[in-house]
Amino acid sequence: MPVSTDNKLCVRCVLPENFPGVRFNGEGVCNHCQQAPSAEAVRENVARLHGEMVSAIEANKGGRDYDCIVAYSGGKDSSYTLKALSENYGLKCLAVTVDNGFMSEQARVNSKAVTAALGVDYQLFTPAWSFMSGMYKQSVTNTELHTKAAIKRASAICNSCIGLINVYMIRLALMHGAKLIAGGYIGGQVPKDTAILELNLDLYMKTREATIGRYEESFGEDTRKYFDVPEGLLKSAQMKKITILNPMLALNVGEEEIIAQLAPLGWKPTLDTGVNSSNCRLNDFGIAMHYNTHGFNPYVFEISEQVRHGLMTREVALKKALSIPSLEEVQWQAKKLGVQIECAE
Ligand SMILES: [Zn+2]
Repeated sequence: MPVSTDNKLCVRCVLPENFPGVRFNGEGVCNHCQQAPSAEAVRENVARLHGEMVSAIEANKGGRDYDCIVAYSGGKDSSYTLKALSENYGLKCLAVTVDNGFMSEQARVNSKAVTAALGVDYQLFTPAWSFMSGMYKQSVTNTELHTKAAIKRASAICNSCIGLINVYMIRLALMHGAKLIAGGYIGGQVPKDTAILELNLDLYMKTREATIGRYEESFGEDTRKYFDVPEGLLKSAQMKKITILNPMLALNVGEEEIIAQLAPLGWKPTLDTGVNSSNCRLNDFGIAMHYNTHGFNPYVFEISEQVRHGLMTREVALKKALSIPSLEEVQWQAKKLGVQIECAE
């Protein structure tokens, strides 16, 4: 690390020439940067999203046990999200971590410290390793599992894991009568401007079957337990919709500022998760496999978006984007999953 790359990179944002849909002009500036709004327009847009988020929060407060279920990895972005929602917006939150078997020990310590400091209820859910390892194994070997759009934003293993977490959050929201779900996604990780999404539960139930069927073929008979929302649960909850918040998109705050604000809560950077994660030790494996298959870092779009929004310098972005672990370096994760990966000489 870092790997050497023969790919031409955008001179402004570091997107490589082989990223899907990228085109460069004569000066080496990519189409995303050419179309990027001015700093002023970005500020205005964030302010607008923030206003909409505050309205959505006010309209959806007053859940039964909790106002909001927070998908909480213990990483910096979701820690900051949890802090903002409970301290600045007065939401009664339930923070939930899904331990995928690769959770960093420091992230475990951080999540305990942060939830204790904020006085927030905390739940740790550890799905059976037999299911998780099978799910990850299938995710790296079955390239048809996820859509083309999904692989631009995250590696295959991340996409499977995020899917499982999202369904678990919906189940908890229904169980606890919470009208809000929040995650710590940042710009570039989720589609543009999705700070607030309305999940119509009827529609959701109707459209889920195709995905669950595809997953069931790959992940086996326990798939429904992790990826389905039971009809009975939906009926008893008597809810028509859930509002999903990605507050980071409406806050637009950079990494340094986030870490500075989390330090007083007892949050410390992890040293064993690679440069693109602050909670998961499988992440580098996902990056290495994604790079090996698609030729670009699955984090490069979010990194480039951070640069365009003025939240990261190009120098830091370059370091992160080019920090691709080699297949040799991720052998221990492969071994733990029982996946054979071949290392080129
Ligand atoms: Zn660019």
